[in-house]
Amino acid sequence: MTSVLPEQSTVRESFESLNPATDEVVGTHPVHSREDVEAAVSKAHEAAVWWEALGYAGRAERLRRWKGVLTRRLAQLAEVVRAETGKPTGDAQLEAVLAIEHIDWAARNARKVLGRKHRAPGLLLSNNDATVEYQPYGVVGVIGPWNYPVYTPLGSVTYALAAGNAVVFKPSEYTPGVGQWLVDTFAEVVPEYPVLQQVTGFGTTGDALVRSEVNKIAFTGSTATGKKIMAAASERLTPVVIEAGGKDPMLVDADADLDAAADATVWGAFSNAGQTCIGVERVYVHERVHDEFVAKVLDKTKDIRGGADSRAQYGPMTMRSQIEVVRSHITDALARGGRALAGGLEAVGDRCVQPTVLVDVPEESSAVREETFGPTVTIAKVRDMEEAIAKANDTVYGLGSTVFSHSRGTEIARRLRTGATAINAPLAFAGIASLPFGGVGDSGFGRIHGPEGLREFARPKAIARQRFPAPLALTSFTRSDKTEQLVSKAMAILHGRK
Ligand code: NAD
Repeated sequence: MTSVLPEQSTVRESFESLNPATDEVVGTHPVHSREDVEAAVSKAHEAAVWWEALGYAGRAERLRRWKGVLTRRLAQLAEVVRAETGKPTGDAQLEAVLAIEHIDWAARNARKVLGRKHRAPGLLLSNNDATVEYQPYGVVGVIGPWNYPVYTPLGSVTYALAAGNAVVFKPSEYTPGVGQWLVDTFAEVVPEYPVLQQVTGFGTTGDALVRSEVNKIAFTGSTATGKKIMAAASERLTPVVIEAGGKDPMLVDADADLDAAADATVWGAFSNAGQTCIGVERVYVHERVHDEFVAKVLDKTKDIRGGADSRAQYGPMTMRSQIEVVRSHITDALARGGRALAGGLEAVGDRCVQPTVLVDVPEESSAVREETFGPTVTIAKVRDMEEAIAKANDTVYGLGSTVFSHSRGTEIARRLRTGATAINAPLAFAGIASLPFGGVGDSGFGRIHGPEGLREFARPKAIARQRFPAPLALTSFTRSDKTEQLVSKAMAILHGRK
């Protein structure tokens, strides 16, 4: 295993990552101190100079090789993910596959998106050659969650690397082994400098990274932590991108394909035990098709089961404490008059929560307003899509959303206050590498993925080069009255017309 610790490190503490299905110890990792983090960031600054100098083609070649390693060892990676998260290996493979697509896209498109481009200089300064290029920040600190420990942090790591930055990555304390696996495989294709390093530990290690001399922080995790990170980053005016929580709605119109919508609901709500930032947590269905839709969802739910065995469609809750949040949301929903048509309080076990479908849940319930992050879904009847849009948008969050409608999909999608919307299929935007990903409101700001994701990790650098002296000297004390009169006349012709 490649050591990511600075030589002068003084690690005293360590922690264990556990298999959530068995509590078996998967690995032991250091709790990196503030000094360790600062030393890692200092090394990263040296590495960043070398990495940037490789240029787009050199970096793309290394990223291409990394992608090859990940692809050839997909089964091994899926096993590492399964051990720390408890998710089925098929789901672990799926998130890795999507991450590989992103590495490929970012590597192939970085020059096109970030490279030097000419801009029109305008009439007054037409003697200039105007260009803009996107230069790397230097060192990016990436702080990740545990729910998709490959796909989610690599959405920042990959784009930051492709843009020419070195990265210091702090994975979730639940999935440090996955992070180490990614860093080690990267070091196989980039052995020269520690361009991608990992620091491990809890919130204090993450906080040390935010307060260190990184040039940008990319955070993915809960809204509450995102707020703390933004406050800490403000001390050094370090820019941040915040990818936080969600309460994603699905809207089902009267003309929707109800089988497809029910299938997407069941997948969107229950896969990965509902521990998906863009998981479907609430559904608004047109009254004309509501009952039929609910019947279809219940029918499909019968075949879904969470468990630690290989036949279960999803695994245990990765973070045990989330079980209490799920239980409290179901309790609140039932106490306010909601009904569990599948699952319910008895579905909440010690490690696993079975699929729970709630109806008649008042909009002010925690199950409708707060992120549940468990395999539960609320389904509500609406008069029409106007009511559905209003209810979908009545939230502090705004990450993803889904619309099922034959005739009005795009129109409805455009009116949803979320960073992305999938129409007639679940979560599709997350798998399309060219599309930006990110939120609105309490779901955060900034974008990963696509051209916007590359630009998130680079600073625009504007250059104006004078090609020949201006016929009218505007920015000189030699400027004459005649020049000023000419400028005034020219402006009247150009912009002064009524
Ligand atoms: P979390 O906020 O508890 O932790 C995320 C990371 O932040 C961890 O690595 C943690 O150690 C670190 N951290 C905690 N306190 C910190 C501090 N004060 N300073 C710096 N770092 C600190 O979130 P989680 O439980 O790991 O992940 C689940 C959450 O992530 C959910 O809310 C989910 O919606 C969200 N999420 C969002 C996206 C997205 O793209 N928007 C993707 C996946 C998950």
